[in-house]
Amino acid sequence: MTRHDFCPSCHENDTEDFFKIRNAPTQSLLTVKSSDEALAVKRDDINLGFCSKCGFIYNTTFDTTIDYFTQGYEDQQGFSPTFKKFITGICNRIIDKYDLREKDVIEIGCGKGDFISLLCELGNNRGTGIDPAYVPGRVQPNPSLRFIPEFYSQKHGSLPYDFICCRHTLEHIHETGNFLETIRNSIGNRKDVVVFFEVPSISRILKKQAFWDIFYEHCTYYSPGSLGRLFRLNRFEILDMYLEYDDQYLFIEARPVDDVSDKIQPLEEGIDELRELTRNFTVEVNQRLDKWRHDLKSLKDAGRKTVIWGGGSKSVGFLTNLDEMKAIDHVVDINPHMQGNYIPGIGIRYLGPYDLVKHKPDVVIIMNSVYKDEINRMLNERNLYPELVGL
Ligand SMILES: [Zn+2]
Repeated sequence: MTRHDFCPSCHENDTEDFFKIRNAPTQSLLTVKSSDEALAVKRDDINLGFCSKCGFIYNTTFDTTIDYFTQGYEDQQGFSPTFKKFITGICNRIIDKYDLREKDVIEIGCGKGDFISLLCELGNNRGTGIDPAYVPGRVQPNPSLRFIPEFYSQKHGSLPYDFICCRHTLEHIHETGNFLETIRNSIGNRKDVVVFFEVPSISRILKKQAFWDIFYEHCTYYSPGSLGRLFRLNRFEILDMYLEYDDQYLFIEARPVDDVSDKIQPLEEGIDELRELTRNFTVEVNQRLDKWRHDLKSLKDAGRKTVIWGGGSKSVGFLTNLDEMKAIDHVVDINPHMQGNYIPGIGIRYLGPYDLVKHKPDVVIIMNSVYKDEINRMLNERNLYPELVGL
């Protein structure tokens, strides 16, 4: 196991580990077709470290040799009306804010293309989505939209663009500083480009002991302060920064400048403030896990059928810590491309909402409370009225 002593964000050597998860599946979104294959997914420890120089949090023992992206990767969220409403809102806001109409837009790490497709449709823009894991055929065909199945590199700077967006990708990239530098260098001398990033917020994870939001594929974790410092260090001036989706997602809008900017956003916390949140995290998470073990045992002892609603990384993160209880019968996801697959590392099969009619769960644990109303409606439509527990 190699330890990454040097901070991937500021490149200094002053990182101390503060939290460990043992034996986490190294891949949580991999498309797996059998239980055996799911259980054979490699496991490894996660060691979260805190850089005293820039406040950056990252997995100090992350294995960079694994191919995380091209072995089949299922992360499409656009099947949820709540999520659709959320990304439509983001698109409309940035279209208005930066007058993105009939412009050229690039999305780095576009996944299946949901967001860039919407940005092109709503603003009549021309788009390029870049992602090595791009899968064709999941979005409406649009002659103004093309996809390049590659990792972003400096050569892509020659593409036409007025706007670069990158959503839920940075946290999968270990060499964070180098990645930002590549983007900044690819922009060159242009000053009229706006970059827009969205990442999960580590501040919320630390404050709420959201252990299910820590999983192996997320190798880097961002707070407003550490994200701001990363962008300034790589010659971006921050135009705006805010949290959305019940404070789960952190947004940054920035523009390229020649020197290190000194503009700090109101949302940014100091390094000491963030360090304070890491101090008791292990103790607090263990208390929370003890409570969950107690509750799951009670459910199991009482013979109550318990399922998780919400597949993907959060359920893997949750079950990594609690699967030994064997209290969860099924995991449900509305993404039809996940149904029938098996959860990497855990081996439980994903079901669709309709399968619950037969199973009749007594308790549904909701991995993301943002979807609680939507899930409740879908259950009620199927004449199911289980107890709902939201994370
Ligand atoms: Zn650092």
